[in-house]
Parts: sequence; C-alpha cells; structure tokens
Amino acid sequence: MPDVRVVDATGATVMPGIVDAHCHLGGNSYPEETNWVLEPDRFQAIASAAQAAASVGHGVTSVRDISVNGPHLRRAIGEGLIEGPRIVPCWRGLSRTGGHGDAPGLPREMVRTSHPWGIIADGPDEVRWAVREVVKNGARCVKVWASGGGLHENEPEDLQHYSLEELRVIVEEASYVRVPVAAHCESAETARAAVEAGVWSIEHGEDLDEETIVRMAARGISLVPTLTLLVQWASWSKEFGGYYARPYVPGAEQIPGDRDAAVSLLRARLAENLMRAKEAGIRIGVGSDAYCTGLTPYGEQTLREVRALVAAGLTEMEAIVAATRSGAEILRIEGETGTLETGKSADLIVLRRNPLEDIGSLDGTEMLLVLRQGCVVKDVLTGAG
Ligand SMILES: [Zn+2]
Repeated sequence: MPDVRVVDATGATVMPGIVDAHCHLGGNSYPEETNWVLEPDRFQAIASAAQAAASVGHGVTSVRDISVNGPHLRRAIGEGLIEGPRIVPCWRGLSRTGGHGDAPGLPREMVRTSHPWGIIADGPDEVRWAVREVVKNGARCVKVWASGGGLHENEPEDLQHYSLEELRVIVEEASYVRVPVAAHCESAETARAAVEAGVWSIEHGEDLDEETIVRMAARGISLVPTLTLLVQWASWSKEFGGYYARPYVPGAEQIPGDRDAAVSLLRARLAENLMRAKEAGIRIGVGSDAYCTGLTPYGEQTLREVRALVAAGLTEMEAIVAATRSGAEILRIEGETGTLETGKSADLIVLRRNPLEDIGSLDGTEMLLVLRQGCVVKDVLTGAG
C-alpha cells in the first residue's frame, strides 16, 4: 500500500483519542452571562472554530457540545473546512426563566436570539416545545439545567429548577426522537428527580445521596463530574474576588472564608462523592465544562480533568477509560470510537511517556501525535502533517 505512512513511535504510548462529554464551544470570551449574550454572535461563531481546533489539538477527538454553534461546527469540520473534534451537539440547553441558561439583566428576546448555549422554557408545554426546537436545530442530546448553577445569588446550586413533571416531559419528548437527556444537577434533590424522570447522564452531580447512586448504577445512568470546573467555580466566587455568587460546598455546615481552605474542603467533598459513585459501578465520564476562551483553555482543561480524576482517587487506568471508552458510550458513539479496535475510526494520540505510570504525561507538551478519524491533527513525532 504505497499511500500508507509508517510512523516509528518506539518507546511512546498509543491510546484512544480523548472524549470530552461536557463542553461549550460557544465562542464566548467573558465570565459573566450578560456579556456572553451581548458579545456579537458572529464573533462567537468565529471564536468557536478556534475553541474546536484547540480541543482537538490537545488530543480531544470527540466532544459533547452544549452551544448554538455545535451543529454548524460539526458540519464545517465534516466538510474539512476547519479542524475540530467529532461533535455530538446538544445545541442550546433548557433553562427556566432566571436559571443558569438565562441572562437576567437582559430582555427575554435578546436572550432568545443571542444566548450562546441557553434556551428559556417554563412549564410542561414550553419545555416540550423547547425539546422539539433543539432537536430541530440538530441536537443529538438534550441538555437541561435541572438545578441552579450559582452564576448569581438568585440561582444557587443547591436548589431544583425544574419540577419532576417538567423533567418527565423533557425525557418523554426526547425519547420520541431517540435522543438522550443530560441533566445539570448540583443538589441531591435535583439528581434524585432527574434520575426518577429517566435522564441519561447527570452533569456535575457533586451531591449524590445513597439511593440516587444505587438507582443510577442499576439504570446505567452516567456521571460527568467536572471536578476541575467545580473547583475553579468556587475559587471564582465574588467572596474571593471573582465573578460568581458564593462558593458552594455541598454538605458543608460552614464554608471557610479563606479561599485555599474552601477549595480544599470542596476537593475532599468532590472526591468522596466521586468515589462512592465509582464503588457503586456508575459509569464516569470526563467533562471539562470549558466555556470561556481565557478562563477554561479548550483541550487543556479536558486533560486537567483527567488528571483531576486521578487526584480524586481513580486509578490511572480508570481515568483513561473514563476519558475514552466510557466517554464514547455516554456520547453513544462507542461503535465509532473510544477504543483502538479494527473497524473503529483512527482517533488516537501518541504520548511521549506512559500515562499509566504518570498521569502527568497526559499533557499537551507530551503529546507527539494526534489523529482524528485517520487525519493528522498534530505531529511533532515526524515533523510532517
Ligand atoms: Zn456546562
């Protein structure tokens, strides 16, 4: 076969490309919800192409994206116009009025046309319509903010945002087009309701009670813990000189006023919650929740999350499986990618060192080669590509 290139990767490690099960290729540059709506849509569309390229340049060969750009990026990448990962688009996620996908300082109409990743829907009829709308726009998964997310003080993380009835309608409507539902759940009550409604994955899920964990394991509901983002989010609260409402540590009687102390308390809580989920056999995925070019560097944030899973207690192999095979299953693309097997796409990365010996080798500077669907995205091994 004369057109086959042979690459000598002696001493290096080959592994499947990384799957990021939760990111926002919204092209957004700002930390606050008002600015991410006001920023020109066309600028965001262009910037999202750079976010997609940065992702795949770090070995992230597949993503589940929650943003208005996802279906268009998917097409442009598919047509070879730009570099980027394989995209499973959610298009916009459902938020109630004043919820995590709204911008309360701005008129509803402006949010409707220009929010990079939120669509507002209240009540069973509107959420049914909104699911149809996101599916019409190319969604292959429906995202819902079932709880608050702590952008501002009127949407704290520990409160449920959609009723069980609304969540059931969302899942039912999505089932009519065989599309799964991913639910942002930061409180125990919310996760319990989302599981009861029959969602496919719990996003964040840092406050899972025992009953919910047992039911998730029994029903095959996945967890995308986004540890890196949750720690960043707490450290970016207004109390510590940042942008967001207040640091959130589920189960904490009192949150320390010192940033480092608050962050270490949160890390311990996140690790404990994650390990209970893992011990129960829940499928765990890697989600960067990258949403802003400057704050959460695309691709790099995903690799940080894999390392964070190890820091929280997973073995190196468990974290790599979360980042590859399990991620592909969560995105429902395991027939195409997620493992290195005959018949699947050549989505792979070559690392200078073995990540099973040191997960720190899962870093952009250690990545010698990235292939997405057989195409060379990055090649410092041979200098070609
Ligand atoms: Zn997110």
